[in-house]
Amino acid sequence: MKRILVTGGAGFIGSHLCERLLNEGNDLICLDNFFTGSKDNIRHLLGNDHFELIRHDVTKEFFAEVDQIYNLACPASPPHYQYNAIKTIKTSVLGVLHMLGLAKRCGATILQASTSEIYGDPQVHPQKEDYWGNVNPIGIRSCYDEGKRCAETLMMDYHRQNHVDTRIVRIFNTYGPNMAVNDGRVVSNFIIQALQNKDITIYGDGSQTRSFCYVSDLVDGLVKMMNNNKGFVGPVNLGNPSERSILDFAKYIIELTNSNSKIVFKELPSDDPVKRKPDISLAKSKLDWEPRVDIKDGLLKTIEYFSTKLGELK
Ligand code: NAD
Ligand code: UDP
Repeated sequence: MKRILVTGGAGFIGSHLCERLLNEGNDLICLDNFFTGSKDNIRHLLGNDHFELIRHDVTKEFFAEVDQIYNLACPASPPHYQYNAIKTIKTSVLGVLHMLGLAKRCGATILQASTSEIYGDPQVHPQKEDYWGNVNPIGIRSCYDEGKRCAETLMMDYHRQNHVDTRIVRIFNTYGPNMAVNDGRVVSNFIIQALQNKDITIYGDGSQTRSFCYVSDLVDGLVKMMNNNKGFVGPVNLGNPSERSILDFAKYIIELTNSNSKIVFKELPSDDPVKRKPDISLAKSKLDWEPRVDIKDGLLKTIEYFSTKLGELK
Protein backbone atom coordinates (compact mmCIF):
# COMPACT_ATOMS: atom_id res chain seq x y z
CA MET A 1 0.00 0.00 0.00
CA LYS A 2 1.34 3.42 -0.97
CA ARG A 3 0.35 6.80 0.50
CA ILE A 4 -0.71 8.87 -2.48
CA LEU A 5 -1.72 12.52 -2.83
CA VAL A 6 -3.92 13.50 -5.78
CA THR A 7 -4.35 17.26 -6.22
CA GLY A 8 -7.42 18.20 -8.26
CA GLY A 9 -8.82 14.82 -7.19
CA ALA A 10 -12.46 15.95 -7.29
CA GLY A 11 -12.14 17.01 -10.94
CA PHE A 12 -12.90 15.07 -14.09
CA ILE A 13 -9.64 13.11 -14.54
CA GLY A 14 -8.68 13.27 -10.84
CA SER A 15 -11.86 11.49 -9.71
CA HIS A 16 -11.22 8.55 -12.07
CA LEU A 17 -7.61 8.41 -10.92
CA CYS A 18 -8.65 8.38 -7.23
CA GLU A 19 -11.06 5.51 -7.87
CA ARG A 20 -8.42 3.48 -9.72
CA LEU A 21 -5.75 4.04 -7.03
CA LEU A 22 -8.15 3.13 -4.21
CA ASN A 23 -9.20 -0.04 -6.05
CA GLU A 24 -5.54 -1.00 -6.22
CA GLY A 25 -5.38 -0.86 -2.41
CA ASN A 26 -3.59 2.45 -1.82
CA ASP A 27 -4.11 5.05 0.90
CA LEU A 28 -5.28 8.30 -0.67
CA ILE A 29 -5.43 12.00 0.09
CA CYS A 30 -7.62 13.84 -2.40
CA LEU A 31 -7.00 17.58 -2.30
CA ASP A 32 -9.24 20.08 -4.10
CA ASN A 33 -10.54 23.65 -3.82
CA PHE A 34 -13.73 22.70 -5.76
CA PHE A 35 -13.30 25.47 -8.34
CA THR A 36 -14.22 23.16 -11.23
CA GLY A 37 -14.36 19.87 -9.33
CA SER A 38 -17.30 18.51 -7.41
CA LYS A 39 -17.99 16.28 -4.42
CA ASP A 40 -20.45 14.44 -6.68
CA ASN A 41 -17.48 12.97 -8.58
CA ILE A 42 -16.01 11.32 -5.48
CA ARG A 43 -19.06 10.90 -3.23
CA HIS A 44 -18.98 7.11 -3.69
CA LEU A 45 -15.40 7.02 -2.32
CA LEU A 46 -16.09 9.02 0.85
CA GLY A 47 -16.99 5.99 3.02
CA ASN A 48 -13.68 4.26 2.30
CA ASP A 49 -11.25 4.37 5.27
CA HIS A 50 -8.36 4.75 2.84
CA PHE A 51 -9.81 7.87 1.24
CA GLU A 52 -9.38 11.32 2.79
CA LEU A 53 -10.84 14.43 1.17
CA ILE A 54 -9.26 17.78 2.03
CA ARG A 55 -10.47 21.20 0.85
CA HIS A 56 -7.27 23.06 0.08
CA ASP A 57 -5.91 25.46 -2.51
CA VAL A 58 -2.54 24.45 -4.01
CA THR A 59 -1.46 28.09 -4.20
CA LYS A 60 -0.91 27.62 -0.43
CA GLU A 61 1.61 25.20 1.10
CA PHE A 62 0.44 21.74 2.10
CA PHE A 63 2.10 19.29 4.47
CA ALA A 64 1.60 15.53 4.59
CA GLU A 65 3.71 12.37 4.46
CA VAL A 66 3.26 10.65 1.12
CA ASP A 67 5.07 8.33 -1.31
CA GLN A 68 3.58 9.62 -4.57
CA ILE A 69 2.00 12.89 -5.74
CA TYR A 70 -0.18 13.29 -8.83
CA ASN A 71 -0.39 17.07 -9.39
CA LEU A 72 -3.58 17.61 -11.41
CA ALA A 73 -4.99 20.75 -9.73
CA CYS A 74 -5.70 23.34 -12.43
CA PRO A 75 -8.83 24.26 -14.38
CA ALA A 76 -8.50 22.70 -17.86
CA SER A 77 -11.38 24.15 -19.86
CA PRO A 78 -10.68 27.47 -21.66
CA PRO A 79 -13.72 29.36 -20.25
CA HIS A 80 -12.81 28.20 -16.72
CA TYR A 81 -9.09 28.91 -16.90
CA GLN A 82 -9.77 32.30 -18.51
CA TYR A 83 -12.33 33.23 -15.81
CA ASN A 84 -9.50 34.27 -13.49
CA ALA A 85 -6.36 34.14 -15.60
CA ILE A 86 -4.04 35.35 -12.83
CA LYS A 87 -5.32 32.68 -10.48
CA THR A 88 -4.78 30.05 -13.20
CA ILE A 89 -1.11 30.83 -13.65
CA LYS A 90 -0.65 30.99 -9.86
CA THR A 91 -2.28 27.56 -9.58
CA SER A 92 0.17 26.03 -12.06
CA VAL A 93 3.33 27.76 -10.84
CA LEU A 94 2.79 28.04 -7.07
CA GLY A 95 0.95 24.71 -7.06
CA VAL A 96 3.84 22.78 -8.59
CA LEU A 97 6.38 24.62 -6.40
CA HIS A 98 4.52 23.57 -3.27
CA MET A 99 4.14 20.01 -4.49
CA LEU A 100 7.81 19.81 -5.49
CA GLY A 101 8.79 21.06 -2.02
CA LEU A 102 6.61 18.36 -0.51
CA ALA A 103 8.09 15.70 -2.81
CA LYS A 104 11.62 16.81 -1.94
CA ARG A 105 10.99 16.68 1.82
CA CYS A 106 9.22 13.28 1.70
CA GLY A 107 11.36 11.69 -1.01
CA ALA A 108 8.13 11.16 -2.96
CA THR A 109 7.74 10.65 -6.70
CA ILE A 110 5.79 13.48 -8.31
CA LEU A 111 3.88 13.41 -11.59
CA GLN A 112 2.85 16.69 -13.20
CA ALA A 113 -0.22 16.83 -15.46
CA SER A 114 1.08 18.93 -18.32
CA THR A 115 -0.76 19.41 -21.57
CA SER A 116 -0.66 19.37 -25.36
CA GLU A 117 -1.27 23.13 -24.96
CA ILE A 118 2.45 23.57 -24.28
CA TYR A 119 2.84 23.03 -28.06
CA GLY A 120 0.57 26.06 -28.62
CA ASP A 121 -0.68 26.31 -32.22
CA PRO A 122 1.72 23.64 -33.47
CA GLN A 123 3.67 23.98 -36.69
CA VAL A 124 4.80 20.35 -36.49
CA HIS A 125 2.18 17.65 -36.99
CA PRO A 126 1.67 15.23 -35.29
CA GLN A 127 3.35 16.57 -32.16
CA LYS A 128 6.37 14.76 -30.73
CA GLU A 129 7.90 15.43 -27.32
CA ASP A 130 11.02 17.03 -28.84
CA TYR A 131 8.96 19.80 -30.48
CA TRP A 132 9.33 23.04 -28.46
CA GLY A 133 6.02 24.50 -29.53
CA ASN A 134 4.52 27.72 -30.88
CA VAL A 135 2.94 29.51 -27.92
CA ASN A 136 1.73 33.11 -27.77
CA PRO A 137 3.11 34.40 -24.44
CA ILE A 138 0.60 37.27 -24.16
CA GLY A 139 -2.69 35.85 -25.44
CA ILE A 140 -5.87 34.66 -23.75
CA ARG A 141 -4.63 31.05 -23.54
CA SER A 142 -1.21 32.04 -22.15
CA CYS A 143 -2.20 31.88 -18.47
CA TYR A 144 -2.75 28.16 -18.98
CA ASP A 145 -0.10 27.35 -21.60
CA GLU A 146 2.73 29.34 -20.03
CA GLY A 147 1.74 28.23 -16.51
CA LYS A 148 2.08 24.61 -17.61
CA ARG A 149 5.34 25.31 -19.47
CA CYS A 150 6.78 26.93 -16.33
CA ALA A 151 5.57 23.94 -14.28
CA GLU A 152 7.52 21.64 -16.64
CA THR A 153 10.62 23.83 -16.20
CA LEU A 154 10.35 23.66 -12.41
CA MET A 155 9.89 19.88 -12.53
CA MET A 156 13.08 19.47 -14.58
CA ASP A 157 15.06 21.92 -12.42
CA TYR A 158 14.05 20.15 -9.19
CA HIS A 159 15.01 16.90 -10.87
CA ARG A 160 18.45 18.11 -12.00
CA GLN A 161 19.26 20.30 -8.99
CA ASN A 162 17.60 18.47 -6.10
CA HIS A 163 17.31 14.95 -7.53
CA VAL A 164 13.55 14.84 -6.99
CA ASP A 165 11.97 11.84 -8.74
CA THR A 166 9.80 13.67 -11.29
CA ARG A 167 7.48 12.58 -14.14
CA ILE A 168 5.91 14.86 -16.77
CA VAL A 169 2.94 13.74 -18.87
CA ARG A 170 1.51 15.90 -21.67
CA ILE A 171 -2.19 15.10 -21.78
CA PHE A 172 -4.11 15.55 -25.05
CA ASN A 173 -7.89 16.18 -25.20
CA THR A 174 -9.52 13.67 -22.87
CA TYR A 175 -13.25 13.04 -22.36
CA GLY A 176 -15.61 10.82 -20.39
CA PRO A 177 -18.03 10.71 -17.45
CA ASN A 178 -17.50 13.20 -14.57
CA MET A 179 -16.91 16.17 -16.88
CA ALA A 180 -18.89 19.08 -15.43
CA VAL A 181 -22.14 20.03 -17.18
CA ASN A 182 -20.87 23.63 -17.37
CA ASP A 183 -17.33 22.56 -18.37
CA GLY A 184 -17.44 24.42 -21.69
CA ARG A 185 -15.11 22.10 -23.61
CA VAL A 186 -16.18 20.72 -26.95
CA VAL A 187 -17.16 17.16 -25.95
CA SER A 188 -19.46 18.19 -23.11
CA ASN A 189 -20.87 21.19 -25.00
CA PHE A 190 -21.80 19.17 -28.10
CA ILE A 191 -23.27 16.23 -26.18
CA ILE A 192 -25.38 18.46 -23.92
CA GLN A 193 -26.57 20.57 -26.88
CA ALA A 194 -27.45 17.41 -28.84
CA LEU A 195 -29.31 15.81 -25.92
CA GLN A 196 -31.36 19.00 -25.50
CA ASN A 197 -31.94 19.39 -29.29
CA LYS A 198 -30.30 22.82 -29.06
CA ASP A 199 -28.01 24.32 -31.71
CA ILE A 200 -24.53 22.77 -31.82
CA THR A 201 -22.07 25.68 -31.55
CA ILE A 202 -19.02 25.27 -33.74
CA TYR A 203 -16.38 27.94 -33.18
CA GLY A 204 -14.90 28.97 -36.55
CA ASP A 205 -15.61 26.81 -39.63
CA GLY A 206 -15.00 23.51 -37.82
CA SER A 207 -11.95 22.60 -39.91
CA GLN A 208 -9.70 22.66 -36.82
CA THR A 209 -8.80 19.18 -35.58
CA ARG A 210 -8.49 17.47 -32.21
CA SER A 211 -7.76 13.86 -31.15
CA PHE A 212 -9.92 12.54 -28.31
CA CYS A 213 -8.82 10.04 -25.65
CA TYR A 214 -11.19 8.20 -23.29
CA VAL A 215 -10.49 8.84 -19.61
CA SER A 216 -9.80 5.21 -18.54
CA ASP A 217 -7.03 4.97 -21.16
CA LEU A 218 -5.54 8.22 -19.95
CA VAL A 219 -5.62 7.15 -16.28
CA ASP A 220 -3.90 3.92 -17.25
CA GLY A 221 -1.10 6.00 -18.83
CA LEU A 222 -0.77 8.21 -15.73
CA VAL A 223 -0.37 5.18 -13.46
CA LYS A 224 2.12 3.52 -15.83
CA MET A 225 4.20 6.67 -16.03
CA MET A 226 4.21 7.14 -12.25
CA ASN A 227 5.30 3.55 -11.62
CA ASN A 228 7.79 3.03 -14.44
CA ASN A 229 11.05 2.06 -12.79
CA LYS A 230 13.31 2.69 -15.76
CA GLY A 231 14.14 6.21 -14.59
CA PHE A 232 12.04 7.61 -17.44
CA VAL A 233 11.03 11.13 -16.36
CA GLY A 234 9.47 12.25 -19.65
CA PRO A 235 7.92 14.43 -20.84
CA VAL A 236 5.68 11.90 -22.54
CA ASN A 237 2.57 12.48 -24.67
CA LEU A 238 -0.59 10.66 -23.53
CA GLY A 239 -3.51 10.85 -25.94
CA ASN A 240 -5.38 9.07 -28.68
CA PRO A 241 -3.94 9.76 -32.14
CA SER A 242 -7.26 9.32 -33.97
CA GLU A 243 -7.70 12.86 -35.29
CA ARG A 244 -10.94 14.42 -36.56
CA SER A 245 -12.22 17.84 -37.51
CA ILE A 246 -14.60 19.60 -35.11
CA LEU A 247 -17.26 19.71 -37.88
CA ASP A 248 -17.08 15.91 -38.33
CA PHE A 249 -17.17 15.51 -34.57
CA ALA A 250 -20.37 17.59 -34.33
CA LYS A 251 -22.03 15.45 -37.02
CA TYR A 252 -20.96 12.27 -35.23
CA ILE A 253 -22.45 13.44 -31.91
CA ILE A 254 -25.75 14.28 -33.66
CA GLU A 255 -25.77 10.77 -35.17
CA LEU A 256 -24.95 8.98 -31.88
CA THR A 257 -27.62 10.90 -29.94
CA ASN A 258 -30.28 10.78 -32.70
CA SER A 259 -30.61 14.50 -32.16
CA ASN A 260 -32.59 17.12 -34.10
CA SER A 261 -29.96 19.76 -33.36
CA LYS A 262 -28.76 22.08 -36.13
CA ILE A 263 -25.13 23.10 -36.50
CA VAL A 264 -24.40 26.84 -36.11
CA PHE A 265 -21.08 28.64 -36.56
CA LYS A 266 -19.77 31.13 -33.97
CA GLU A 267 -16.68 33.29 -33.80
CA LEU A 268 -13.41 31.39 -33.33
CA PRO A 269 -11.64 32.48 -30.10
CA SER A 270 -8.12 33.85 -30.60
CA ASP A 271 -5.14 31.49 -30.59
CA ASP A 272 -7.36 28.41 -31.00
CA PRO A 273 -4.93 25.72 -32.29
CA VAL A 274 -5.59 24.74 -35.93
CA LYS A 275 -4.66 21.09 -35.49
CA ARG A 276 -3.58 18.72 -32.79
CA LYS A 277 -2.60 15.06 -32.78
CA PRO A 278 -0.18 13.25 -30.46
CA ASP A 279 2.70 11.14 -31.66
CA ILE A 280 2.61 8.43 -28.98
CA SER A 281 5.58 6.31 -30.07
CA LEU A 282 7.51 7.29 -26.92
CA ALA A 283 4.67 6.16 -24.61
CA LYS A 284 4.43 2.92 -26.58
CA SER A 285 8.12 2.12 -26.33
CA LYS A 286 8.84 3.36 -22.80
CA LEU A 287 5.56 2.51 -21.04
CA ASP A 288 4.03 -0.14 -23.29
CA TRP A 289 0.98 2.12 -23.32
CA GLU A 290 -1.54 2.91 -26.01
CA PRO A 291 -5.25 3.76 -25.89
CA ARG A 292 -7.67 0.86 -26.23
CA VAL A 293 -11.16 2.37 -25.98
CA ASP A 294 -12.88 2.93 -29.32
CA ILE A 295 -14.29 6.46 -29.76
CA LYS A 296 -17.83 5.15 -30.29
CA ASP A 297 -17.81 3.13 -27.03
CA GLY A 298 -16.28 6.03 -25.10
CA LEU A 299 -18.75 8.55 -26.47
CA LEU A 300 -21.76 6.31 -25.77
CA LYS A 301 -20.68 6.01 -22.12
CA THR A 302 -20.21 9.78 -21.94
CA ILE A 303 -23.62 10.42 -23.55
CA GLU A 304 -25.23 8.09 -21.00
CA TYR A 305 -23.51 9.95 -18.16
CA PHE A 306 -24.69 13.37 -19.41
CA SER A 307 -28.26 12.22 -19.98
CA THR A 308 -28.40 10.99 -16.36
CA LYS A 309 -26.84 14.25 -15.15
CA LEU A 310 -29.32 16.38 -17.14
CA GLY A 311 -32.19 14.26 -15.78
CA GLU A 312 -31.03 14.96 -12.21
CA LEU A 313 -30.94 18.71 -12.93
CA LYS A 314 -34.56 18.81 -14.17
P1 NAD B 1 -11.00 19.72 -14.13
O1 NAD B 1 -11.20 21.18 -14.21
O2 NAD B 1 -12.19 18.83 -14.16
O3 NAD B 1 -10.16 19.33 -12.83
C1 NAD B 1 -9.27 20.19 -12.20
C2 NAD B 1 -9.43 20.03 -10.70
O4 NAD B 1 -8.49 20.89 -10.03
C3 NAD B 1 -10.82 20.46 -10.20
O5 NAD B 1 -11.31 19.52 -9.29
C4 NAD B 1 -10.57 21.81 -9.55
O6 NAD B 1 -11.51 22.14 -8.56
C5 NAD B 1 -9.16 21.62 -9.00
N1 NAD B 1 -8.44 22.89 -8.80
C6 NAD B 1 -8.34 23.94 -9.66
N2 NAD B 1 -7.60 24.90 -9.12
C7 NAD B 1 -7.20 24.45 -7.89
C8 NAD B 1 -6.42 25.02 -6.84
N3 NAD B 1 -5.89 26.24 -6.94
N4 NAD B 1 -6.24 24.28 -5.71
C9 NAD B 1 -6.79 23.05 -5.59
N5 NAD B 1 -7.55 22.48 -6.55
C10 NAD B 1 -7.73 23.17 -7.68
O7 NAD B 1 -10.00 19.34 -15.31
P2 NAD B 1 -9.46 17.93 -15.83
O8 NAD B 1 -9.85 17.81 -17.24
O9 NAD B 1 -9.78 16.86 -14.87
O10 NAD B 1 -7.89 18.21 -15.80
C11 NAD B 1 -7.05 17.70 -14.78
C12 NAD B 1 -5.61 18.05 -15.09
O11 NAD B 1 -5.23 17.49 -16.34
C13 NAD B 1 -5.36 19.55 -15.18
O12 NAD B 1 -4.11 19.85 -14.62
C14 NAD B 1 -5.33 19.81 -16.67
O13 NAD B 1 -4.54 20.92 -17.00
C15 NAD B 1 -4.74 18.51 -17.20
N6 NAD B 1 -5.14 18.27 -18.59
C16 NAD B 1 -6.40 17.85 -18.90
C17 NAD B 1 -6.77 17.65 -20.22
C18 NAD B 1 -8.14 17.15 -20.62
O14 NAD B 1 -8.41 17.02 -21.82
N7 NAD B 1 -9.03 16.85 -19.71
C19 NAD B 1 -5.85 17.91 -21.24
C20 NAD B 1 -4.58 18.38 -20.89
C21 NAD B 1 -4.23 18.53 -19.56
N1 UDP C 1 -15.22 24.26 -29.74
C1 UDP C 1 -16.36 24.43 -30.51
N2 UDP C 1 -17.56 24.56 -29.88
C2 UDP C 1 -17.69 24.51 -28.53
C3 UDP C 1 -16.53 24.32 -27.74
C4 UDP C 1 -15.31 24.21 -28.38
O1 UDP C 1 -16.30 24.47 -31.74
O2 UDP C 1 -18.84 24.64 -28.05
C5 UDP C 1 -13.94 24.08 -30.44
C6 UDP C 1 -12.81 24.96 -29.90
O3 UDP C 1 -12.82 26.22 -30.53
C7 UDP C 1 -11.60 24.13 -30.27
C8 UDP C 1 -12.08 22.69 -30.16
O4 UDP C 1 -13.51 22.76 -30.22
O5 UDP C 1 -11.22 24.37 -31.60
C9 UDP C 1 -11.68 22.02 -28.85
O6 UDP C 1 -12.04 22.89 -27.81
P1 UDP C 1 -11.90 22.55 -26.26
O7 UDP C 1 -12.30 23.75 -25.50
O8 UDP C 1 -12.58 21.27 -25.97
O9 UDP C 1 -10.35 22.23 -26.04
P2 UDP C 1 -8.98 22.84 -26.60
O10 UDP C 1 -8.39 21.69 -27.30
O11 UDP C 1 -9.21 23.97 -27.54
O12 UDP C 1 -8.28 23.27 -25.37
